[in-house]
Amino acid sequence: MPTSYQLVETQLQQPLENGDVVCNLCLWRCRLRHGQRGFCQAHVNRNGTLYNLSYGIVSAIEVESIRNKPVYHYRPDSQVMSIGSYGCNFRCKGCHNLEISWGVEALDKLARGQSREAFITPAQMVETALKHGVDGIAFTYSEPAVWLEYVLDVSKLAHAAGLFTVYVSNSFVTDEALELMAPHIDVLCSDIKSLSAEFYKEICPVSTIDQVLGSIRRAAELGIHVETRTNVIPTRNDNLEELAGIAAWIRDNLGAESPWHVTKFYPAYQLSHLPATENAIIDQAAAAGRAAGLINVYGHTDISCDCATENAPVSAWMELDADALNTVKACAAPCCGDEGILVKKFEREAGLVPATGTTTR
Ligand code: SF4
Ligand code: SF4
Repeated sequence: MPTSYQLVETQLQQPLENGDVVCNLCLWRCRLRHGQRGFCQAHVNRNGTLYNLSYGIVSAIEVESIRNKPVYHYRPDSQVMSIGSYGCNFRCKGCHNLEISWGVEALDKLARGQSREAFITPAQMVETALKHGVDGIAFTYSEPAVWLEYVLDVSKLAHAAGLFTVYVSNSFVTDEALELMAPHIDVLCSDIKSLSAEFYKEICPVSTIDQVLGSIRRAAELGIHVETRTNVIPTRNDNLEELAGIAAWIRDNLGAESPWHVTKFYPAYQLSHLPATENAIIDQAAAAGRAAGLINVYGHTDISCDCATENAPVSAWMELDADALNTVKACAAPCCGDEGILVKKFEREAGLVPATGTTTR
């Protein structure tokens, strides 16, 4: 496992003869040319090999109850250390976490070798979790599949240290990624944002609800403890019939006892004009879930989508020197001996691409 910041080869990559690479971590299955980054911005093709830019780069840490995820039926009295990086494979219009989930500024700086973001090795992360006395580590704040290489390395060390692992997801994830993570992830807390095709199209043009539901079902088949969550947004997904339909899907595919959490929307970003969800709607949604035959339905009038947490700086949780944690990160791997200029658009800015459009390397 890397002990200083560097690009790490993406695990589920499929090189093509012409130098393009397909990323099979999430269902975007981005096909990338040299110098291009995937939709999540966290993976880059360098000369026919795909690398993760964000391995070990931590945007946020928080110690909290597992019930905040929300997870109620797995070690319900336990504490977790929640961590996240930068980049997401969705673009939700009500995301509270744009600097983290879209991560453009942070990931651009990494691509240029100018980042001062915190780099934390998997061993340091697990040591930090043990120091804070938590029982598990939760990967959250944006879709963890986009830094799966780090998630896997931390999870292996966490299990060896007696900690459990939680993966908070939008479930737009491939079966291959689920199979890779299943031995190392104990709990999946997954969004089912809506049953409407239009809803998913708006936040991720290539997604379908069937893909998301299929991924959740596959995680359960692989033996991961699954709990689901729907964040109810006024006028967007608050139709009680549709909410009852989500509950019926859970009942039929995950079992009548499978926990379903209904959480409250708070206005943000492009949905700032909408009001917060009324508590009465949360109660009605939960009642619709119970009427559909689900036994463990939880209406939350106090918590929202998991990405909405305010966090202390990463350095506040670490015993490491804050200055050392935030020194400039340039990839230490020999493949990138080019002053950290990793992406085609930056090569162009730096005058490294001749007018013909071909690269100098
Ligand atoms: S993880 Fe990123 S690069 Fe890979 S398929 Fe998904 S969006 Fe594309
Ligand atoms: S709400 Fe969650 S899934 Fe959507 S963009 Fe934000 S972090 Fe990603």
